Amino acid sequence: MSFADKNNEIEFISKRMNMVDEQIIHRGVKDTLVLNAMRSVPRHKFVPKGLENDAYNDAPLPIGDKQTISQPYIVASMTEELDINSKCKVLEIGTGSGYQTAILAEIAELVFSIEIIPSLSTASDSILAQLEYKNIKTIKGDGYRGWSNEAPFDRIIITAATPKIPNTLLSQLIDGGIMVLPLEKKVGHQKLTKITKENNSYKTDILYSVRFVPMVGEIEK
Ligand code: SAH
Repeated sequence: MSFADKNNEIEFISKRMNMVDEQIIHRGVKDTLVLNAMRSVPRHKFVPKGLENDAYNDAPLPIGDKQTISQPYIVASMTEELDINSKCKVLEIGTGSGYQTAILAEIAELVFSIEIIPSLSTASDSILAQLEYKNIKTIKGDGYRGWSNEAPFDRIIITAATPKIPNTLLSQLIDGGIMVLPLEKKVGHQKLTKITKENNSYKTDILYSVRFVPMVGEIEK
């Protein structure tokens, strides 16, 4: 690495520590596993070339194909709501940039992630491999029906807005498991929603308003 590159990396680390203090802790995220993951993952590697200097801003960013990498706070907050530990097997629908995938992989035992846009899936695979994550498996495809060969999952996260909760995904959650998703029951009104499965019934907590791109594919039929 050249001297200039090293200086840049130091600058990115400093921006990342500020991001965690000012955007994440300041807004009330407390889980130390989540905070340490947010301190560790180099978000600037998950944004398109030329946007690296904006990677630690308090905002989502475009990643191509009309998709976005979520705002850092939303990634941290959703991960905290999932209450992940080192024994968890997690399913993510909507790999996108792969940033949320990496955050999950810092904490969980195994992460499975599905992305419907092939070019995004290929790009995120490449960066996740470069960062040497060994506990992530990805596929290209429609996440609507989950990943039956690997089910059940301890946790499921959907990072695209859905008008309803896909039943197949609920059935792939273990008893005691948690699912977090942006639910858009009324057009234009998305609520981050947390589902806890207990004795095969479901407890629903509506958390707060969010803005995600819509889930596409079979859900639209
Ligand atoms: N967590 C990602 C969010 C990306 S935006 C990040 O922070 O980078 C949502 C992603 O969901 C997009 O990449 C979109 O292509 C993907 N997506 C939408 N519908 C999907 C589906 N049915 N199955 C899998 N991925 C889907």
